Amino acid sequence: MLQLLNLIGSELKPANDGEWLDQIEPATGEITGRLPRSKASDVDQAYAAAAQAFPTWSTTPVEGRAACLRKLAQLISHNSAQLAEAESRDNGKPISLAQSVDIPRAEQNLAFFASAIEQFPSEAHIPAGPSHINYTHRKPIGVVGCISPWNLPLYLFTWKIAPALAAGNCVIAKPSEITPVTAWMLSQWVLEAGFPPGVLNIVHGLGPEVGQAIVSHPSIKAISFTGGTVTGAHIARTAGPMFKKMSLELGGKNPAIIFADCDFEKALQTTIRSSFANQGQICLCSSRILIEDSIYDRFRDALIEKVGRMQPNDPMIPGTKMGAVVSLAHRDKIMEHIQSAQAEGATLLCGGSIADAPNARCEGGYFVQPTVFEDAGPECRINQEEVFGPVITLQRFHTENEAVQLANSSPFGLACTIWTQHIGKAHRVAAGVESGIAWINCWLVRDLRTPFGGVKDSGVGREGGWNALQFFTEPQNVCVSIT
Ligand code: NAD
Repeated sequence: MLQLLNLIGSELKPANDGEWLDQIEPATGEITGRLPRSKASDVDQAYAAAAQAFPTWSTTPVEGRAACLRKLAQLISHNSAQLAEAESRDNGKPISLAQSVDIPRAEQNLAFFASAIEQFPSEAHIPAGPSHINYTHRKPIGVVGCISPWNLPLYLFTWKIAPALAAGNCVIAKPSEITPVTAWMLSQWVLEAGFPPGVLNIVHGLGPEVGQAIVSHPSIKAISFTGGTVTGAHIARTAGPMFKKMSLELGGKNPAIIFADCDFEKALQTTIRSSFANQGQICLCSSRILIEDSIYDRFRDALIEKVGRMQPNDPMIPGTKMGAVVSLAHRDKIMEHIQSAQAEGATLLCGGSIADAPNARCEGGYFVQPTVFEDAGPECRINQEEVFGPVITLQRFHTENEAVQLANSSPFGLACTIWTQHIGKAHRVAAGVESGIAWINCWLVRDLRTPFGGVKDSGVGREGGWNALQFFTEPQNVCVSIT
């Protein structure tokens, strides 16, 4: 049994009051370890360690901070096989996905922001016939909180802590209580990477307890949060009146818009991947597939033929493409959405049930069949609420305008994919869709320099590249007389 600990200052330790939470492997339903159930007093200790470390860390030259980030990236790389196995076991995702996406991206996040901080520019404003020069001094904020979800555990944890640390802040980070293991593994290498004690603190526990303690701590100046929209709204209600800086990356209900002039095979293959990768548990997954009327039947039949043959399998088997969903509670939530869609009159084209265990090891695991509906109107719950599982709907459109209208008929606005060979149409549709990200004839291609985030109920603010470094710094305008 694994026993996870908090990293506070230079110490790996249990929660102050000695309480624990069970850690469960979703593919088997078995308890595989325990993690500290931390509370406000643990956050207070982490804050004290971080505040003590801040004066030195914030004035460490960027090359020194970058060196620590690069060393931590290297340690991830050296331990990538163990990390990928742990991520797959903890989350239920196929091990091949953890090996090819999650763990390499965690390493890249740290390496990327190590380089980015070395090249982070500042602005100057020099009027004609100058008597004064203004320049922007970007200062680290202080002690900041980073809170991440379970779907891409180490990937999103590092995506938040890397720019915060690079910019000279000290961090109190909380991974999801559902998938804490890889953040725990990382916490054992933080000091070895050269970070002074207190620069990065990692506390485990429940969102409403330790997460809430971070968000409401009077001296933690900024919150970078990725998770559900309801949690994001709650965080905003707490942190807003305290005038904290906030970056909120929230849920999605992303449309894939398939025009008749698309590259049919590429659109089909990629839409299946964008719908069901990580069991549909990526915030960027497509969940509403909008198909032009003239190819609707052909696209639907080809999609069902392929999806109907997909079955979840033991995530630890190397060839597995679909694994377990993350928890029993989440499986029940997905099944409730499936039942509600049927009650609302949607037609089930395939899936719709809990999947059989793929082998004896996985008898107690949480598996859902990939599920496709049609005939659900845009106002149905299944087209309005985020399921965050392997469930999609197909809808028909006749015109470009109707496609945009359907795409925008949800409260969310994170990402969309557009499939057409007509570049002008693709550009018009991208401009018309209310989303922070639009992919044309591709999906999940990520350049870490680009702005990442959503509009509407999908969040506030942008991460990625300079956006993240700007978020984690406080700009001060300095005006110098040169007369
Ligand atoms: P969640 O909101 O339940 O939890 C996210 C994190 O917030 C966890 O660490 C949790 O412990 C913590 N938390 C919960 N309540 C809190 C509180 N009151 N105060 C402080 N912290 C609290 O989300 P989840 O179920 O872990 O993740 C799935 C959601 O994340 C989906 O909605 C998905 O779309 C979203 N997501 C968004 C992005 C994005 O970039 N927009 C990326 C990945 C996931």
